[in-house]
Amino acid sequence: MDSQKITMGSNGLLNVPNNPIIPFIEGDGIGPDVWTASKMVLDAAVKNSYNGTRKIEWKEMLAGEKAFKQTGEWLPAATLDMAREYLVSIKGPLTTPVGGGMRSLNVAMRQELDLFVCLRPVKWYKGVPSPVVHPENVNFVIFRENTEDIYAGIEFANGTPEAKKLLDFLTNELGAGKKIRFPESSAFGIKPVSKEGSERLVRASIKYALENKLPTVSIVHKGNIMKFTEGGFKIWGYELAEREFGEYVYTWEQWERTKKASGEEAANAELKTAKAAGKLIVNDVIADNFLQQILLAPQDYSVIATLNLNGDYISDAAAAAVGGIGISPGANINYNTGHAVFEATHGTAPRFANTNTMNPSSLLLSGVMLLEYIGWHEAAKSIEDALSTTIKRKRVTVDFYNLMNDATLLKTSEFAEEIIKNL
Ligand code: NAD
Repeated sequence: MDSQKITMGSNGLLNVPNNPIIPFIEGDGIGPDVWTASKMVLDAAVKNSYNGTRKIEWKEMLAGEKAFKQTGEWLPAATLDMAREYLVSIKGPLTTPVGGGMRSLNVAMRQELDLFVCLRPVKWYKGVPSPVVHPENVNFVIFRENTEDIYAGIEFANGTPEAKKLLDFLTNELGAGKKIRFPESSAFGIKPVSKEGSERLVRASIKYALENKLPTVSIVHKGNIMKFTEGGFKIWGYELAEREFGEYVYTWEQWERTKKASGEEAANAELKTAKAAGKLIVNDVIADNFLQQILLAPQDYSVIATLNLNGDYISDAAAAAVGGIGISPGANINYNTGHAVFEATHGTAPRFANTNTMNPSSLLLSGVMLLEYIGWHEAAKSIEDALSTTIKRKRVTVDFYNLMNDATLLKTSEFAEEIIKNL
């Protein structure tokens, strides 16, 4: 079988050959251990599911410490070129270089490829130790905006000429000086949130919800305080939902308008009709309240669309409810170009490097997301089921072993072998 590239068709859908070339970064620290285990399972599941007619051709790309040792660069241009050329790739955790000009390799990749969605499904697998009473009620997908917000990195340290210049500008040109409590000792950060950026994120979340027949998209924001940035995100999100998906959605904005015009009863009747017709309900939640809702009523949510900083907090808080970062997968995606980098959400846990003890589930489930993204649903499902069975049988790595009664402790590679047995 000849291996080939995945390409983006003119219809906006991926062309996926039976032997796609998929670049991988094994990652630093525990990366090689969890990648080796994940790759074993991914390959076995693809082979089983398609009787050997499909196979992924993995192609290594260098980043992080391994790249630095071999090339003197943390993120060689060749790696970005490869990720760009082959569209879909996967990576283990990378060390964030201390000092030097780079904030983080992950952030650099997201920016270079304009991967505007950080996709984080949050779902509980039976048997996974959880701090909440009903983790089975947690099952939603977070669309976190990945390119804007306070994360743009426009910050000025206090006492610098730049901070002084900005302060002067805010005071003299914009008349906002009085709002700054301690002007002389303030550091400043800028929070850019654009209409385009908000729209493409919300569009992706609505498409996902419609394709997967999910009941709601919740826009999570802090627009009550940050009216133009977070508030803008909400307003643009609602407008986009009605403008581009009018036939398929019913929004809380519509509900509000009907209530104003014809009363609450009429609005409720409209909402009921929309639900009965199977329409997607687009609503919004204030971010602080949402962090409560994750614990109090997670069953009310299925797709979350949110800004960068909120998304960061929410992803980890939600992950904790279903077993933590050792099992939470993620992806960074540009749905317009098709570029996608699937990744473990934990770090390199350097203390445990080469111990063959850590949980490979985060990277493995990122691989499952990759399989779903390229349309290989059978293989994806078989891994999820086999992982679930393995955990239910309490044959687990140390992180879960420490929290379970009567479990059997497995090494990273043994855990992978166990999953393969259960495929
Ligand atoms: P970390 O996620 O590496 O480790 C924190 C702790 O979580 C570990 O000590 C370990 O107890 C646990 N843990 C992590 N992964 C696990 C797994 N697969 N199985 C079981 N337990 C696991 O976070 P950190 O110590 O803050 O960061 C270490 C390095 O990783 C830093 O250089 C940081 O910049 C980098 N980092 C990279 C990424 C990424 O590449 N996406 C994300 C976060 C941190």
